[in-house]
Amino acid sequence: MIDCCCTGRSEKDNEFCAYRENDKVIEHIENTPSASSRTDLLGEGACGGNKILVVDDSPVYRKLVEQSLSAERCALLFAKNGREALDLFAKHQPALVITDWNMPDMEGPELCKRIRHDFPDCYCHLLMLTSNSGKEKIVEGLRAGADDYLTKPFDFGELAARVGVGRRIVELHRQIQEKNRLLEEMALTDALTGLPNRRAIDIWASRQLSAAARHDFSFWAVMADLDFFKKVNDTYGHDAGDTVLKTFAEILTAQTRESDMCARLGGEEFLVMMTHSDKEGAETAIERIRKQFENTKFAFGNHTVTATASFGIAGFRGTKPPDWNALVARADTALYAAKDKGRNRIECELETEI
Ligand SMILES: [Mg+2]
Repeated sequence: MIDCCCTGRSEKDNEFCAYRENDKVIEHIENTPSASSRTDLLGEGACGGNKILVVDDSPVYRKLVEQSLSAERCALLFAKNGREALDLFAKHQPALVITDWNMPDMEGPELCKRIRHDFPDCYCHLLMLTSNSGKEKIVEGLRAGADDYLTKPFDFGELAARVGVGRRIVELHRQIQEKNRLLEEMALTDALTGLPNRRAIDIWASRQLSAAARHDFSFWAVMADLDFFKKVNDTYGHDAGDTVLKTFAEILTAQTRESDMCARLGGEEFLVMMTHSDKEGAETAIERIRKQFENTKFAFGNHTVTATASFGIAGFRGTKPPDWNALVARADTALYAAKDKGRNRIECELETEI
């Protein structure tokens, strides 16, 4: 039977209270230094930066670790064996794990290996705390995936200091991950319009094209180009030109489905990828975009200005998908036809019969 030993707390708090089964602590999270910081500390997302998992089959050592970290601003989780540790790790993704070596179901090095293997995307700092003090054991522990090694009996100050080092490393790792994520996002985004760029749509559309062949759904590439755009820039300035481009991007986004993708290729050229639509449906969707853009009025100084765009559509449905760039080239040919026929219109390439 599992009882929660805490009372008078909210349901959310209770989730993190000490639970007892046959008088043994099986899960215990304690925030330090004050209970008032509980919600803040546990409110972290994935890879919780303030959570430390302590794994030891000895209740005495669990208590000693708790006492040694009493001044740390962190949430402690306790497990008494490897299985519980893995369950708690999956649930809370702590930033740090302090693990014993000798435990009934799993040795410390095995636990380190399992955490590294089972949670490759959640970096954590692993510290082995064990009475195994031989050099060969230290080497074995570190090779199993531990980042640090401390022998029992341990000094409270030393453990707290090593935990501080681990938390600094985890925080740096988190910052690097966040910066990498931002760089990746920037590398795939057009800075002016916020739309995906050429690289992004090339990656996504190539995958979708394969999926269209495998799962038998239609796939459309639509090239769009603003008509006489240079005149807008030359007459009203580049800020005016940027406004027109951003407005066109907004219309593209608003008039297409979430599952479609609109990208700016550069200059006044855009590319739309659409799926699950017949030829008429694709043309209707693009016609909505063409009309809305044509009817949009821009105020530049004392002038009210309108702009238009031309569109070229190419599609695919079948079991052998064309190369994505070849499909884009076909859409481009259709776009040229639209330009030749007077602009502000849509042309669908002749090969496309879906
Ligand atoms: Mg032990």
